[in-house]
Amino acid sequence: MRYFIFILGLVIIIPLVLQAEVKDCIYCDTTGRVGCLYCNGAGFQECTSCYGTGVSQFQTCYHCDGLGRTYNEFFNRWELCSVCHGRGAPKCSVCKGRGVVKCYFCKGSGTTKCPYCKGRGYTKD
Ligand SMILES: [Zn+2]
Ligand SMILES: [Zn+2]
Ligand SMILES: [Zn+2]
Ligand SMILES: [Zn+2]
Repeated sequence: MRYFIFILGLVIIIPLVLQAEVKDCIYCDTTGRVGCLYCNGAGFQECTSCYGTGVSQFQTCYHCDGLGRTYNEFFNRWELCSVCHGRGAPKCSVCKGRGVVKCYFCKGSGTTKCPYCKGRGYTKD
């Protein structure tokens, strides 16, 4: 019987103790998520492969040889290259021409797990 009361006491006391120790995380406002520091919450970063230009920095357009335009002998004039559309190089294969890539750290969500509460939304002293 004494043992039973002891267990009962633990069941009542433990949640009270835990509750007293738990604090709302002020850093993430209890959401458990904070804005990604690497992309400033945008969810994407400038493509490092093409420096955000969306154009390959390593290759030139095979069609216009990097000029961005081709000479049309029939009309006797220069025309915008139909392959690279004047860029002079193919699209960056890493970002598919967008110039930005999904943030590696937050996987594009723009937020990361709060480092203070480890995503729980509360902290314990
Ligand atoms: Zn937090
Ligand atoms: Zn071209
Ligand atoms: Zn790129
Ligand atoms: Zn990010």
